[in-house]
Parts: sequence; C-alpha cells; structure tokens
Amino acid sequence: MPAIVLDGNKIAADIRSEVAAEVETMRAAGIRPGLAVILVGHNPASEIYVRGKVKSCEQLGIYSEQLTPPDTISTQELLALVGELNRRDEIDGILVQLPLPSQVDSKQVLMAVDPAKDVDGFHPVNVGFLSTQRPGLVPCTPAGVIEILQRSGIVIAGQEAVVVGRSDIVGKPVAMLLINHNATVTVCHSRTRDLAAVCRRADILVAAIGKAGMITPDYVKPGATVIDVGMNKVTDPAEFQRLFAGNAKREEIFRSKGSTLVGDVHPQVAEVAGNITPVPGGVGPLTIAMLMANTVKAARLRRANRMHE
Ligand code: NAP
Repeated sequence: MPAIVLDGNKIAADIRSEVAAEVETMRAAGIRPGLAVILVGHNPASEIYVRGKVKSCEQLGIYSEQLTPPDTISTQELLALVGELNRRDEIDGILVQLPLPSQVDSKQVLMAVDPAKDVDGFHPVNVGFLSTQRPGLVPCTPAGVIEILQRSGIVIAGQEAVVVGRSDIVGKPVAMLLINHNATVTVCHSRTRDLAAVCRRADILVAAIGKAGMITPDYVKPGATVIDVGMNKVTDPAEFQRLFAGNAKREEIFRSKGSTLVGDVHPQVAEVAGNITPVPGGVGPLTIAMLMANTVKAARLRRANRMHE
C-alpha cells in the first residue's frame, strides 16, 4: 500500500491561521509583534526567501522591517545594526539571512542577536534552553518537523527515531526535540557505519542530508514515517531519470524549467513507508509558518519575562 502523504501546505496553513488569531488577540491588548530581517547584498535565493518572510508577516498582521546593507558591510557595522535592533522595543524578532559575505564573521553576528529576539533559535542560549527543556526559541525547520508529526497523529513517545544529518540548524535540534518528546533517538552522519541498517530500525526516519534521493527503499522499514527535510535542485538528466523515470508530471516540469526539486528521500520510498512528506510541499512550508509562530512567541515571552523582572 502506498504511503500516506503528509500535507505540509495544509499543516502550515493551519498554523498560520492560529498565529493570525493570536496576533489579533495581542492587537486588542495594544501589542503588535514585529520582525526585522537583515538581508545583506543581493543574493537572489536570499532575496526570494526574505520576500516570502516579509509577505507572510503582512498576511498575518505582524509588523516587519527589512534592512538591506550593501555586501561591503563590515562585521563591526553589522554588529552595530544588530545592537540597534536589540534595543528597539517594537522589534520582537531579528533574523539575519544567511549566508553573509565572506568578510563578515557570521558566528560573531549571530551571537550578538539578543537571545530573546533570536527567532531562528540558533543562539547558544536558545540551544541550551532546548537541551534543558526550558522555554525558549526553537529553530523553525526542526520545530516544523515536530508539528507535522503531532498534527498528523503520529506517536513519537517510545518510538525508534533515526535522524540522518547532524547540522546545528536541522539534524541536532530535530534530534533534541525528538528526545524531548520521548523518542529513542539515533543520530547518523557521514561517518556512520552501515547507514541503511541503522535507518531500517526507525519507526520515524528524518532525512536532513542535502543529497538528492539518497534514502532509497532499502533504508526504510515497511510502514515507517519518513520526514524529508532535504531540498535539492536536480539539473542532470541522468540523475533526473534515476529519481523520476516514468513520472509524467515531473518530466513536464523538468522539460520546461530544466530542473526540479527533490528531497533527500528517493520517490520510490513512498511504496514502502507508512507516512511520507513530499518535496515540495512537505517540511518546506512549515519553516516560514514556524518563523511567524516564533515571532509571536518572542513577543509573548519578552513581555512575560518583563513582568517577572
Ligand atoms: P548540512 O549542514 O550540509 O548537513 C548535512 C548533514 O548530512 C551532515 O551532518 C553530514 O554529515 C550528513 N551527511 C552528508 N552526507 C552523508 C552521507 N553520505 N551519509 C550520511 N550522512 C551524510 O545540511 P543542513 O543545513 O542540515 O541541510 C540538510 C538538507 O535540508 C539540505 O538539503 C537543505 O537544503 C535542507 N534544508 C531544508 C530546509 C527547509 O526549509 N525545508 C531548511 C534547512 C535545510 P557530517 O556531519 O559527517 O558531514
């Protein structure tokens, strides 16, 4: 039986309407959550991402501001910009769009963001909060993975979860969230021995690798839930054939655009898995939805903490 396809677009839409309702409640109390996005230079992909984030804020009633310094900016100048946003009370969330130009010390800039406004959840203070189960800001894509599981009625507690990938932005925080939700978690990476055998243990398999269609059916236990975080652009015709041979819809896209998007999971896995997220339309839409949720959460937490000071 083919897998149930978990609809990320629908789940993201549900979250967005919940966030919009919360924004409305806050507005009645005289509060408007605000997000500042720093976009350095003219990276076309970053420009598209930032446009999506700003548009989403507008749709949900969140105040947003875009700062666009030139790509000649120095670390010190960027630190000054972040410092200014840290001090402004109407800004609840600060997002520094990556990558930054090579002359900028990215780690130093990300460290300078006030952890209470760190809506990406990358600051070590928020990483610490996550690992010690304290309230804080959780990275958007990993938080989206948990939302997909929970809102699809997939049990996490007690399940064997395998995460392939150990990056600071996806693999590690996904693993930590799964531990916090009482799964038994194994984290794999490029040095893992017999990766397929480890993956086959998983009731929940999360792929965050960055390798087109690497997870083939022999990595998957029949009936497992497979969450595909990967987003890879395929342009090579032979690679396209390996992944999508006989898929008329994809062939049409590939012919007209010269490329198509694929996750880290081979499409044939849908014949073995019990549940699977598609690419596109799976984890991707959750990332912006969770950024909106984090901005509202930051606004709420900042005010709650102020009351306790
Ligand atoms: P990353 O920083 O490059 O990390 C990739 C991880 O995969 C590393 O831990 C690496 O192991 C592991 N890996 C690479 N090749 C492997 C192999 N052959 N076998 C086992 N493990 C292997 O990537 P990332 O930032 O975490 O992103 C992962 C994927 O998610 C990418 O496709 C990215 O585009 C996508 N992504 C999607 C969203 C979204 O909104 N949907 C958001 C963020 C990222 P080592 O640590 O040993 O090198």
